[in-house]
Amino acid sequence: MPLDVCQLPLVGGHPALDLANTLERGGESPHDFLTDSSALLRWSVRVAVVSDAEAEQVGRAWRDEPAAAHAGLATVRDIREGLHLVLLATITDADGGTVGDPIAAGAALVALHQRWSGAAARARLTLDSSRVRLAYGTVPAMLVPDRIAEAALDVMLTADLTRVRRCPVLQGGCGWLFLDQSRNGSRRWCRMADCGNVVKARRLTERRRAARPGLLG
Ligand SMILES: [Zn+2]
Repeated sequence: MPLDVCQLPLVGGHPALDLANTLERGGESPHDFLTDSSALLRWSVRVAVVSDAEAEQVGRAWRDEPAAAHAGLATVRDIREGLHLVLLATITDADGGTVGDPIAAGAALVALHQRWSGAAARARLTLDSSRVRLAYGTVPAMLVPDRIAEAALDVMLTADLTRVRRCPVLQGGCGWLFLDQSRNGSRRWCRMADCGNVVKARRLTERRRAARPGLLG
């Protein structure tokens, strides 16, 4: 029984990276933890892209208009794929090459810009004492995809993308993306308690096996 999306560890360091990690890639059949629009809504509250009060409005709007719920989920999945392609293209591996495909990333940027333009068209400038803010998500049925588009743009424009890492698949890690916020930029694993220690334990077992030729198991 796969975990509920709200049980996934949040390791990304930004909601947009945590979104990228809601699809388990690799293996024969990728598992999408965003199983339906209600999972998406619960997850959006968990990562604070949407408040509890807003989630109630969205829930009502989506119940009244199920097509909007489906469209919202489809849009978020699109943004997630585009963002994943862009972020992969920012990662350089140990040999200095990029992990991703720059052409696919370029196409993804065009699509992400379209998603964001739609969200920006629905956004509103608000005056908050002496600050003007651009508030995304003024239409309840579109609030979740609009906030996700905002988060995707935010990470691409404001995060230090040289700090995007992928938990190393070839070394036995899980492939999740995260922003390395360690002081010296040397974080390798999504979570040492998970992938790092699992891989270390496996290596230790392999070394012990190698040191005892003739023993099976
Ligand atoms: Zn990992």
